[in-house]
Amino acid sequence: MHAKVKPAPGPASKEDSLQTFRQDYRAECVGPRYNGLLHLGMSLTLGLGVIAACIYWLNAPSWLEWLTIPATFLYANFAEWAGHKYAMHRPVKGLGFVYKRHSLQHHRFFLDTHMQIDSNKDYRAVLFPVSIVAFFVVAFFVPVGLLAAWLFSPNVALLLVATGMAYYLNYELLHLSYHLKEDHWVHRIPGFTRFARLHTTHHDQRIMAHKNFNITYPIMDWIMGTWDRR
Ligand SMILES: [Zn+2]
Ligand SMILES: [Zn+2]
Repeated sequence: MHAKVKPAPGPASKEDSLQTFRQDYRAECVGPRYNGLLHLGMSLTLGLGVIAACIYWLNAPSWLEWLTIPATFLYANFAEWAGHKYAMHRPVKGLGFVYKRHSLQHHRFFLDTHMQIDSNKDYRAVLFPVSIVAFFVVAFFVPVGLLAAWLFSPNVALLLVATGMAYYLNYELLHLSYHLKEDHWVHRIPGFTRFARLHTTHHDQRIMAHKNFNITYPIMDWIMGTWDRR
């Protein structure tokens, strides 16, 4: 009797395991009443609400205070790069849920050969849960804002929180857009495909822990030598 020869893993089996993972993920993690557009709408409402409140409380900032915007932008770009490289792709004590959601779920739900969602229920595999965003607002923005107000001025604190929140929304919208279907209008925005391509490269499982950690603008990838422009 001949022993059964296991076929070498090729593109077909890769596709099969992706589809199996997607089915399991949807059954386990996506509730029957989950609505991706509602999820996105709640994140946007929370984020835009925080930004609107900050703008409302701003009081004639000086030009020096306005510099908070580019400084926060660059810091956020670094935080995105470092958070993605060190917490999302390596299990860190206390942040295991971030590693699980990203490396073990997001990177198995989407491969460089299969980047698109099938329906808006799959937004669940891309967007951060609203509860986590609300937690970060309270646990991160409030103390950092209070510290900045004490060290510098209330205007600096408000510009810092507003820019940080705008950066986060930009991150979520861009990341979601990369995973939308190829006939979606966002793919026709000039220059969009260049950014999308960098993220597609990052979804190659062989290099995901080493290249293209910026989801938005590859500034830190460029500085740190992790930019892969294939
Ligand atoms: Zn992705
Ligand atoms: Zn990643």
